[in-house]
Amino acid sequence: MCRHAAWLGPSRSLSSLIFEPDQGLLRQAYAPRMQRFGSVNADGFGVGWYDPSLSEPVRYRRSIPIWADANLPGIAGVARSSCLMAAVRSATVGMPIEESATAPFADGIWLLSHNGRVQREAVRPLAPGSESACDSAWLASAVFALLREGIPLARTLPLVVRGAAEADPAARLNLLVCGGMELAATAWGDTLYAHLGEGVLVASEPLDDRPGWQAVPDRNLLLASPDGVLVTPID
Ligand code: GLN
Repeated sequence: MCRHAAWLGPSRSLSSLIFEPDQGLLRQAYAPRMQRFGSVNADGFGVGWYDPSLSEPVRYRRSIPIWADANLPGIAGVARSSCLMAAVRSATVGMPIEESATAPFADGIWLLSHNGRVQREAVRPLAPGSESACDSAWLASAVFALLREGIPLARTLPLVVRGAAEADPAARLNLLVCGGMELAATAWGDTLYAHLGEGVLVASEPLDDRPGWQAVPDRNLLLASPDGVLVTPID
């Protein structure tokens, strides 16, 4: 399982997901505390953020360990946004290790990350194509196809998760999607936590030991917007 995190709220830097917290994604890349599958996340990393002057989010992805990129601390310190995403990757056996297989995947305003694994045959019928042979890239393509049709995020994620899980009951489908003004995450086979304060912080596992982190129950969908946060069962 990879580890991912996102923020929706008053503008803050990418460092707040990666470098500043004790258990930020930098540390979760080599010493995650709750990872059930795999032990380190050294097969790449990616970040994405929204700049009000641009119509689409900015991404930076690499296929090297997050700790090996000497330029990232500088970039993460100045990349500030009210909507942020970051992910570190532990590639599933057989999946390519390349930038195009690394989250966040993107389409228009959307950014997507996946913790888990799914048989590609289970998602190919739902997806028009994929930028990489990686299962997560296929899954992202399936989600983006429905979002392009105008189906809201709140309906799209349960549709894709149910469809993929029906075809592959052993699939693990923790998805995280940002749209700039909204954020959604599924818990389906791995841990997911949320911390509510002046905004909402969502992460595979807590980024620090502050009180207030709440576990999202398995098979639930978390939806966050400026109006608040809602957690609902997927099935
Ligand atoms: N299956 C995805 C990949 O290979 C995600 C892996 C993970 O969550 N560890 O990248």
